[in-house]
Amino acid sequence: MSYVDEVYERVVRENPSQPEFHQAVREVLDSLRVVIERNEEKYRREALLERITMPERQLLFRVPWVDDKGQVQVNNAFRVQFSSAIGPYKGGLRLHPSVNLGIIKFLGFEQIFKNSLTGLPIGGGKGGCDFDPKGKSDREVMAFCQSFMTELHKYIGADVDVPAGDIGTGAREIGYMYGQFKRLTGRYEGVLTGKGLSYGGSLARTEATGYGLLYLTEEMLKCNGHDIAGKVVAVSGAGNVAIYAAEKAQQLGAKVVTVSDSTGWVYDPDGIDVALLKDVKEVRRARLTEYAAARPSAQYHEGKGVWSVKCDVALPCATQNELNLEDAKMLVANGCIAVAEGANMPTTMDATEYLQASGVLFAPGKAANAGGVATSALEMSQNSMRLSWTFEEVDAKLKDIMVNIYHNIDNAAKEYGLAGNFVAGANIAGFLKVANAMEAQGVV
Ligand code: NDP
Repeated sequence: MSYVDEVYERVVRENPSQPEFHQAVREVLDSLRVVIERNEEKYRREALLERITMPERQLLFRVPWVDDKGQVQVNNAFRVQFSSAIGPYKGGLRLHPSVNLGIIKFLGFEQIFKNSLTGLPIGGGKGGCDFDPKGKSDREVMAFCQSFMTELHKYIGADVDVPAGDIGTGAREIGYMYGQFKRLTGRYEGVLTGKGLSYGGSLARTEATGYGLLYLTEEMLKCNGHDIAGKVVAVSGAGNVAIYAAEKAQQLGAKVVTVSDSTGWVYDPDGIDVALLKDVKEVRRARLTEYAAARPSAQYHEGKGVWSVKCDVALPCATQNELNLEDAKMLVANGCIAVAEGANMPTTMDATEYLQASGVLFAPGKAANAGGVATSALEMSQNSMRLSWTFEEVDAKLKDIMVNIYHNIDNAAKEYGLAGNFVAGANIAGFLKVANAMEAQGVV
């Protein structure tokens, strides 16, 4: 059996009931076959793949808090410190009822390669909790965040592990967590990113993942003979990534015709009104039915359906496995030429393979959505220097990083005879830097 298959079998055996983690490992290891086979015995002797697929440390803890009725609630929380080969652990905190250890491990594993692709010195980690901020009062969210940080603060620090936002963790949650960290430790340091501008946050961090997604998509289209201007774009999600992806797409001259949330989706043939979307989602924290009610050109549909709309470019920006084989077939039949992942692993493996085989340009999340973590690393730099850069400075650095990522993954794919396969290119380019650092640092 090949070394890659041996390691995959071990991962499945030792991590039962974690299908998303298995899926993420499978995708990366399949891409790495061409690299590993060139030096199989060396990698096997170093147990390099066993080490890279096994977190350095996994923290599981309970989070007790008191709700508005005086009832004590308890949630399950996780922080997986996956790899510190190239820098302190870095990755977001997800607050969603679906969170479990397997989900956090899949996200942490992906984060290793994504962070490596940014070219910045950040290792991989991820955390979260099965707490649902939806429908909770501000006081309940604060009580939860303070209790969560009371335990987590023992394991994080500006040079150790620097968490950030993710699904369910936005500016409000980061603010409460940061306040509690400061109170517990008495230290004012860049321990979290995505902070508010008045207390150490970076300009353009809010926009970074969505804007970065469009910078990479624009470059990918340009290098393959297309122009983003004039393209019809389908976006899923209506959160942080989706909103700023839609905003930048429209600034670049494309027309975004859809957004979605966990209950339904909107088709707006005149183009999504981003200001209205921000008001509904960021200010009122309401459902998309309110968007449709305020916008005569928009149609609201219950359930799932974004990928049935005719579009040139599809940007899945909601959650994992939201674009399956059926959806991929509809996209191809409707003439879609490019899919770029704003979310983490939103496309199932069979859908990815179908899109690639059909000649659709496919940019995987670990490359396409790396703008968020890259800008978080820029926030860390500003905190360490006690400086703040202007919006334009950060945005220009973000654009450079995303354009570089595209060329790195394109070149890595070509070097291994896989031209145009950006999934392989991203996995290979991300892996080589981390593997090199692990080898240099010995058996640790
Ligand atoms: P938000 O919580 O701001 O928004 C998530 C959006 O997706 C919401 O519209 C939400 O709908 C929808 N959604 C969430 N879960 C589901 C589900 N199970 N089914 C259908 N829709 C769902 O999160 P972000 O925008 O920050 O994150 C979106 C994705 O991007 C995630 O995969 C995240 O890991 C990834 N990502 C985020 C980065 C960032 O900087 N924020 C960086 C890199 C990746 P509803 O409001 O109804 O729940």
